[in-house]
Parts: sequence; C-alpha cells; structure tokens
Amino acid sequence: MAAVSRIQLQKCLQNIWSTNSSLKTLLCGSSVSGEYQRRWASQAKVKYPKAKYGGRSTVTLLPGGGIGPELTGYVKEIFLYAGVPVVFEEVKIDPSSDSNEDLENAITSIRRNGVGLKGNIETRSLSTSVMSRNVALRNELDLFVNVFHCYSFTGIQSRHQNVDIYVIRQNTEGEYAMAEHESVPGVVECLKIITREKAERLAHYAFNFARKNGRKKVTTVHKANIMKLSDGLFLEVSREVAKHYPEIEHNDMIIDNCCMQLVSKPSQFDVMLTTNLYGTIVSNVICGLIGGAGLLSGGNYGDHYAVFEPGTRNTGTAIAGKNVANPISMLNGAVDLLNHLELDHHARILRDAIMKTVNEDQIHTPDVGGSATSTDVVENVLKHLAQNVKPGLVF
Ligand code: ATP
Repeated sequence: MAAVSRIQLQKCLQNIWSTNSSLKTLLCGSSVSGEYQRRWASQAKVKYPKAKYGGRSTVTLLPGGGIGPELTGYVKEIFLYAGVPVVFEEVKIDPSSDSNEDLENAITSIRRNGVGLKGNIETRSLSTSVMSRNVALRNELDLFVNVFHCYSFTGIQSRHQNVDIYVIRQNTEGEYAMAEHESVPGVVECLKIITREKAERLAHYAFNFARKNGRKKVTTVHKANIMKLSDGLFLEVSREVAKHYPEIEHNDMIIDNCCMQLVSKPSQFDVMLTTNLYGTIVSNVICGLIGGAGLLSGGNYGDHYAVFEPGTRNTGTAIAGKNVANPISMLNGAVDLLNHLELDHHARILRDAIMKTVNEDQIHTPDVGGSATSTDVVENVLKHLAQNVKPGLVF
C-alpha cells in the first residue's frame, strides 16, 4: 500500500511541475524551449548507462501476461543458442494482486540495468487506485517516447506493400493521464493532459529522429479542430519546433482523416508525430495493413532507460499456451534490444534469420495466414542461426 502511495504522490507532483510552466520559469529562470533545444541539439551524444558484468549485459525481463511468458521464453532459448552475452533478470508481476511490490521491483531492476524487454503486463484489478502497470512503468521511468517502425514484409500477403512509417508517440501523458473522476453520480470526467514541456520534448525527438535517419517528412496527428486547447497546444508546439528543422517537411492531419488516408494511401506518410491515444490507433491501423499484431516491435525511450516490446502491446490471452502465437514481434523486440546494447553482430544474425523465416521460407503462424506453430517459427529461426554460430562457443 505504501508503494502505491509513493507512485501516486510522485505522479501528482510530476503533473503539478510539468503543467505549471510559470512556476518552472520562476524557479529555473530559463525558458523550457531553450533548455530542450540545447539538449536535443546534443542528442546524438546521449549514452544510456548499461549494467555490464564480465562482458555480459544484464537486461530486465518482464514476461507479462497472456502470450508474454512463451514469447520471452523463445527469446531466452535463442539467446542461449546463439551465445548472446546477455543475462536476463526476470521479474514476474502478479496481475491479480492489488499490491505494487512486483512493479516496484521491476522498476528498480530497469533503473539498475538501464534496459528491459517486456510482454504486456496485465492489471486485472478494477479498483481505480490500481493503475495500469504498463502506464505506471513508463511514467516512473520517464519513457517519454514510443518509437514504432511499421513496415511490410515481402513474404506476407497484405493490403499494402512497401509500407515504411515511423510512429513517434507520446508515451507518458495525453489521454493516458489516468485522471478520471465522477463529479456527481452519473457524470464522469476524464482529463487529457498536454504540457508544452513534454510536447516540445517529443516534437524535438521526432524531428531529430527524422534528421538522423534520413527521413523527409513529419506529420503531426491531432484533433485540434475539436480539442482546441489540448491538441491545439500539441499542434502549435510541433509547428514551432518544425521551424528549427527546415530541411524536414512538416504537415498535420486530423486523426480521423489520417486513419482513412493510412488505409487508402499509406505511402504518403514517413514519420508520424502523435499524442498517446492517436499513436496506438494509427499503430494498430498500420499493423492491420501489413499483417497484424504479431510481427512488429516497438521501443520506449527516455533520457536514461529503454524498454522494448511487441509494438501493439497485446496480451493475447485467448491464444496463450496454444502454440499459435506469432513470436516474430517479440523476436524483433529482441533485435532492437541487441542493437541498443550495440551487440551488432548478434542483432544482424538474428534479424537475418527472422527475415529469411518470414519472407523466404514463409513459415507463418495462423494470424498471418499460415499453419505453422510458434515453435515451428522458432526452430526455423534457430536453423538459420546455426549457420552463424559455432556450437559450444560462448561469446
Ligand atoms: P485477449 O488479450 O483476451 O486475447 P484482446 O482483445 O485484448 O484479447 P489483444 O491482446 O489486444 O486482444 O490482441 C488483439 C488481437 O491480436 C487478438 O486477436 C490477439 O489474439 C491477436 N494477437 C496479438 N498478438 C499476437 C501474436 N503475437 N500472434 C498472434 N496473434 C496475436
């Protein structure tokens, strides 16, 4: 119970701090905009701390619920087989418990190791005092941005080919502020929090990302015609920030039109900059276009920590334990993790094995039109890895 209060108190204080820009200017004596411009100008130099003992990186593993434990189990099997120098520190979170002790342990572990890999964590409690563990984890670690690369696979029949879009999503506020209350019986209000500080930080991240990755255009997704203050601020800030990146084209699109445009002509999008809820909507629409929830991974980043996971954050409870879940999304999350740890060789051989399995051998689970089991896919990945790893050799 004490752990719950601490998280909530911290969150409350963070909100007061981040929503009160005049207080901040008064206390800090400098404009937030200037602070972030300086910070993001040197973004390329930011190095994440990583726990490394005896040449091995320690990574927090949160299996989560539903299909999470079996998918993270495949990652462990593959890493062991390929001699990947990673040791997992596993933290299980009981979905039925109202206590946040497991969550606190998970957060402490990520703070120590700097990096994590996770399945979707379930929160079964209906009590309003128990917040979503996934959201709490992102807030506590200030994982302010979710980066989701959405692309088509040549070996999977889908509505569109050649999709190649990055969704840069607000990850710690917006519609996920979880600030709801019943003002009088039968009347419920839900707050959507947009702060200039966090909108600016996110916009700089998106434009910097575009610049560093050779992308040409950023599209801000919003509903500022209806939510004139909240989405209005998000849009206004993105327009201001865009001026600092003159080589990157900037446009904006209302979320509903954006979904229609995605379905009819996805090639017009390059990098999308979105609030929290619109981010999950467009990510799921794009996943539907390229073959479903089982393929792509996403990364959650802050100034100090990074956590990787399947991109659309599904639990998949209905298919758990049936050996039908597509392991590719979690395996792609493992590749992102290896890239982040600068284990380039291991990242490359695992990525190659995944792409050969999906595109050339076409070993597909039922969600993408095949009849293979999860373990068929994993065994095929191991078969390709066998050509690149020497049995018995531990890196
Ligand atoms: P539940 O979690 O009870 O299965 P849900 O509606 O919450 O139901 P999600 O977990 O959000 O479902 O997943 C959305 C859909 O995507 C479900 O049909 C699920 O089975 C499917 N899905 C998600 N991940 C995978 C995966 N790795 N492989 C195959 N199907 C998946």
